[in-house]
Amino acid sequence: MIFSEIESGLTREGNKIQAFKTDVKATKYLYLMAGVHGDEVEGVYVLKELFDWLKVEHSLKDLPIIVLPIVNLDGYRAGTRVNAHQVDLNRNLPTSDWKPVATQPKYYPGPEALSEPENQFLVKLFDKYKPGFILSFHTWKPILNYNGDCEDIALFLKKYNDYPVDSDIGYPTPGSLGAYGPEKYNCPVLTFECPELRTHKETLKEIWDENEKGLKDLMQSDLITNKLK
Ligand SMILES: [Zn+2]
Repeated sequence: MIFSEIESGLTREGNKIQAFKTDVKATKYLYLMAGVHGDEVEGVYVLKELFDWLKVEHSLKDLPIIVLPIVNLDGYRAGTRVNAHQVDLNRNLPTSDWKPVATQPKYYPGPEALSEPENQFLVKLFDKYKPGFILSFHTWKPILNYNGDCEDIALFLKKYNDYPVDSDIGYPTPGSLGAYGPEKYNCPVLTFECPELRTHKETLKEIWDENEKGLKDLMQSDLITNKLK
Protein backbone atom coordinates (compact mmCIF):
# COMPACT_ATOMS: atom_id res chain seq x y z
CA MET A 1 0.00 0.00 0.00
CA ILE A 2 1.17 3.51 -0.67
CA PHE A 3 1.19 5.90 2.27
CA SER A 4 1.72 9.64 2.24
CA GLU A 5 2.55 11.83 5.15
CA ILE A 6 -0.41 13.97 6.16
CA GLU A 7 -0.50 16.97 8.45
CA SER A 8 1.69 16.54 11.46
CA GLY A 9 1.16 17.57 15.03
CA LEU A 10 3.60 19.07 17.43
CA THR A 11 4.64 17.72 20.78
CA ARG A 12 4.90 19.86 23.87
CA GLU A 13 8.59 20.43 23.04
CA GLY A 14 7.79 21.31 19.45
CA ASN A 15 8.85 18.05 17.82
CA LYS A 16 6.89 16.83 14.83
CA ILE A 17 4.46 13.95 15.34
CA GLN A 18 4.28 12.11 12.04
CA ALA A 19 1.07 10.67 10.63
CA PHE A 20 0.72 8.66 7.42
CA LYS A 21 -2.39 7.81 5.41
CA THR A 22 -3.30 5.63 2.46
CA ASP A 23 -5.00 7.34 -0.46
CA VAL A 24 -8.37 5.72 0.14
CA LYS A 25 -11.48 7.76 0.78
CA ALA A 26 -13.67 6.22 3.43
CA THR A 27 -16.17 7.07 6.10
CA LYS A 28 -14.14 5.20 8.72
CA TYR A 29 -10.43 4.53 9.07
CA LEU A 30 -8.21 1.93 10.64
CA TYR A 31 -5.77 3.59 13.02
CA LEU A 32 -2.47 1.93 13.83
CA MET A 33 -0.55 3.75 16.52
CA ALA A 34 2.25 3.28 19.03
CA GLY A 35 4.43 5.14 21.48
CA VAL A 36 1.66 6.83 23.47
CA HIS A 37 3.89 5.84 26.37
CA GLY A 38 7.38 6.88 25.35
CA ASP A 39 9.28 4.14 27.14
CA GLU A 40 7.33 1.30 25.51
CA VAL A 41 9.77 0.63 22.69
CA GLU A 42 8.50 -2.93 22.17
CA GLY A 43 5.16 -1.65 20.85
CA VAL A 44 6.89 0.99 18.72
CA TYR A 45 9.07 -1.71 17.19
CA VAL A 46 6.18 -4.05 16.38
CA LEU A 47 4.26 -1.27 14.64
CA LYS A 48 7.40 -0.21 12.74
CA GLU A 49 7.82 -3.73 11.38
CA LEU A 50 4.13 -3.96 10.48
CA PHE A 51 4.19 -0.54 8.80
CA ASP A 52 7.36 -1.39 6.84
CA TRP A 53 5.58 -4.47 5.51
CA LEU A 54 2.35 -2.60 4.67
CA LYS A 55 4.40 -0.11 2.64
CA VAL A 56 6.13 -2.69 0.47
CA GLU A 57 3.46 -5.39 0.14
CA HIS A 58 1.69 -4.23 -3.00
CA SER A 59 -0.54 -7.29 -3.30
CA LEU A 60 -2.68 -6.08 -0.39
CA LYS A 61 -6.04 -4.63 -1.22
CA ASP A 62 -6.12 -0.99 -0.29
CA LEU A 63 -7.51 -0.11 3.09
CA PRO A 64 -8.17 3.31 4.60
CA ILE A 65 -5.38 3.36 7.17
CA ILE A 66 -3.77 6.05 9.28
CA VAL A 67 -0.47 5.24 10.99
CA LEU A 68 0.99 7.17 13.90
CA PRO A 69 4.35 5.49 14.55
CA ILE A 70 5.21 7.40 17.75
CA VAL A 71 2.60 9.65 19.38
CA ASN A 72 4.62 10.69 22.43
CA LEU A 73 7.84 11.57 20.65
CA ASP A 74 9.23 13.67 23.52
CA GLY A 75 8.73 10.76 25.91
CA TYR A 76 10.24 8.34 23.40
CA ARG A 77 13.36 10.46 23.09
CA ALA A 78 13.62 10.88 26.85
CA GLY A 79 12.77 7.24 27.59
CA THR A 80 9.80 8.19 29.74
CA ARG A 81 6.22 6.95 29.90
CA VAL A 82 4.90 10.50 30.30
CA ASN A 83 5.27 13.45 27.91
CA ALA A 84 7.49 16.47 28.50
CA HIS A 85 4.79 17.94 30.76
CA GLN A 86 4.88 14.79 32.93
CA VAL A 87 1.40 13.80 31.69
CA ASP A 88 0.30 10.24 30.98
CA LEU A 89 -1.28 10.79 27.56
CA ASN A 90 -3.38 7.67 28.02
CA ARG A 91 -5.14 9.33 30.98
CA ASN A 92 -5.58 12.78 29.43
CA LEU A 93 -8.34 12.20 26.87
CA PRO A 94 -11.67 13.92 27.59
CA THR A 95 -13.77 10.95 28.71
CA SER A 96 -16.89 11.57 30.79
CA ASP A 97 -15.19 10.03 33.84
CA TRP A 98 -11.96 12.09 33.54
CA LYS A 99 -10.65 13.31 36.89
CA PRO A 100 -7.62 15.47 37.75
CA VAL A 101 -6.32 12.88 40.21
CA ALA A 102 -3.86 10.04 39.82
CA THR A 103 -3.29 6.97 41.95
CA GLN A 104 0.42 7.17 41.09
CA PRO A 105 2.59 9.96 39.59
CA LYS A 106 3.14 7.92 36.41
CA TYR A 107 -0.61 8.16 35.72
CA TYR A 108 -0.76 11.97 36.10
CA PRO A 109 -3.69 12.92 33.83
CA GLY A 110 -2.73 16.56 33.34
CA PRO A 111 -4.19 19.82 34.68
CA GLU A 112 -7.33 19.32 32.60
CA ALA A 113 -8.66 16.84 30.07
CA LEU A 114 -7.09 17.22 26.62
CA SER A 115 -4.52 19.69 27.94
CA GLU A 116 -1.71 18.08 25.94
CA PRO A 117 -0.83 18.97 22.31
CA GLU A 118 -0.17 15.31 21.42
CA ASN A 119 -3.75 14.40 22.31
CA GLN A 120 -5.17 17.56 20.72
CA PHE A 121 -3.54 16.42 17.48
CA LEU A 122 -4.93 12.92 17.86
CA VAL A 123 -8.46 14.18 18.44
CA LYS A 124 -8.14 16.55 15.47
CA LEU A 125 -7.26 13.57 13.27
CA PHE A 126 -10.12 11.49 14.68
CA ASP A 127 -12.57 14.32 13.94
CA LYS A 128 -11.29 14.67 10.37
CA TYR A 129 -10.86 10.94 9.62
CA LYS A 130 -13.34 9.05 11.77
CA PRO A 131 -11.87 5.97 13.41
CA GLY A 132 -13.59 2.64 12.71
CA PHE A 133 -11.08 0.58 14.61
CA ILE A 134 -7.99 1.58 16.59
CA LEU A 135 -5.09 -0.76 17.23
CA SER A 136 -2.75 0.85 19.74
CA PHE A 137 0.53 -0.86 20.59
CA HIS A 138 1.82 -0.64 24.12
CA THR A 139 4.08 -2.69 26.37
CA TRP A 140 3.31 -4.32 29.69
CA LYS A 141 2.54 -7.93 30.32
CA PRO A 142 1.29 -9.50 27.11
CA ILE A 143 -2.46 -8.93 26.86
CA LEU A 144 -5.02 -8.13 24.20
CA ASN A 145 -7.21 -5.61 25.97
CA TYR A 146 -10.34 -4.83 23.99
CA ASN A 147 -12.78 -1.99 24.55
CA GLY A 148 -15.91 -1.80 22.47
CA ASP A 149 -16.85 -4.29 19.79
CA CYS A 150 -13.53 -5.94 18.92
CA GLU A 151 -13.34 -9.12 20.98
CA ASP A 152 -13.38 -10.93 17.61
CA ILE A 153 -10.08 -9.29 16.61
CA ALA A 154 -8.50 -10.02 19.99
CA LEU A 155 -9.48 -13.69 19.72
CA PHE A 156 -8.17 -13.81 16.15
CA LEU A 157 -4.74 -12.56 17.29
CA LYS A 158 -4.73 -14.86 20.32
CA LYS A 159 -4.77 -17.85 17.95
CA TYR A 160 -1.29 -16.76 16.85
CA ASN A 161 0.38 -15.25 19.92
CA ASP A 162 -1.58 -16.93 22.73
CA TYR A 163 -1.74 -13.65 24.69
CA PRO A 164 -4.60 -13.42 27.21
CA VAL A 165 -7.72 -11.62 25.97
CA ASP A 166 -9.53 -9.33 28.38
CA SER A 167 -11.92 -6.40 28.32
CA ASP A 168 -10.72 -5.26 31.73
CA ILE A 169 -7.08 -4.83 32.74
CA GLY A 170 -7.99 -4.81 36.41
CA TYR A 171 -8.01 -1.13 37.30
CA PRO A 172 -9.90 1.95 36.07
CA THR A 173 -8.32 4.03 33.30
CA PRO A 174 -10.32 7.27 32.92
CA GLY A 175 -8.98 9.42 30.10
CA SER A 176 -7.58 6.42 28.21
CA LEU A 177 -8.03 5.81 24.52
CA GLY A 178 -9.74 2.51 25.34
CA ALA A 179 -12.42 4.49 27.16
CA TYR A 180 -12.54 7.44 24.76
CA GLY A 181 -12.79 5.60 21.41
CA PRO A 182 -16.00 3.71 22.18
CA GLU A 183 -17.55 6.61 24.13
CA LYS A 184 -16.91 9.43 21.66
CA TYR A 185 -16.73 7.70 18.25
CA ASN A 186 -18.43 4.37 18.93
CA CYS A 187 -15.08 3.01 17.81
CA PRO A 188 -13.63 -0.20 19.25
CA VAL A 189 -10.06 -0.02 20.55
CA LEU A 190 -7.64 -2.89 20.94
CA THR A 191 -4.82 -2.03 23.30
CA PHE A 192 -2.16 -4.50 22.25
CA GLU A 193 0.21 -4.94 25.17
CA CYS A 194 3.49 -6.42 23.99
CA PRO A 195 5.65 -8.30 26.49
CA GLU A 196 8.35 -6.23 28.17
CA LEU A 197 11.94 -6.96 27.18
CA ARG A 198 12.98 -6.40 30.78
CA THR A 199 10.89 -9.19 32.26
CA HIS A 200 10.40 -11.55 29.34
CA LYS A 201 14.02 -11.74 28.17
CA GLU A 202 12.97 -11.61 24.55
CA THR A 203 14.59 -9.53 21.86
CA LEU A 204 12.55 -6.99 19.92
CA LYS A 205 12.83 -9.28 16.92
CA GLU A 206 11.43 -12.21 18.90
CA ILE A 207 8.46 -10.09 19.96
CA TRP A 208 7.85 -9.21 16.31
CA ASP A 209 8.34 -12.83 15.23
CA GLU A 210 5.63 -14.08 17.58
CA ASN A 211 3.22 -11.46 16.20
CA GLU A 212 4.19 -11.17 12.56
CA LYS A 213 1.87 -13.77 11.07
CA GLY A 214 -1.14 -12.83 13.20
CA LEU A 215 -0.87 -9.13 12.41
CA LYS A 216 -0.24 -9.68 8.71
CA ASP A 217 -3.19 -12.08 8.45
CA LEU A 218 -5.36 -9.63 10.38
CA MET A 219 -4.63 -6.85 7.89
CA GLN A 220 -6.07 -9.02 5.13
CA SER A 221 -9.01 -10.28 7.17
CA ASP A 222 -12.66 -9.34 6.81
CA LEU A 223 -12.62 -8.60 10.55
CA ILE A 224 -10.95 -5.27 9.73
CA THR A 225 -13.11 -4.31 6.74
CA ASN A 226 -16.23 -5.12 8.80
CA LYS A 227 -15.23 -2.50 11.38
CA LEU A 228 -14.80 0.17 8.70
CA LYS A 229 -18.33 -0.05 7.27
ZN1 LIG B 1 1.35 1.87 27.60
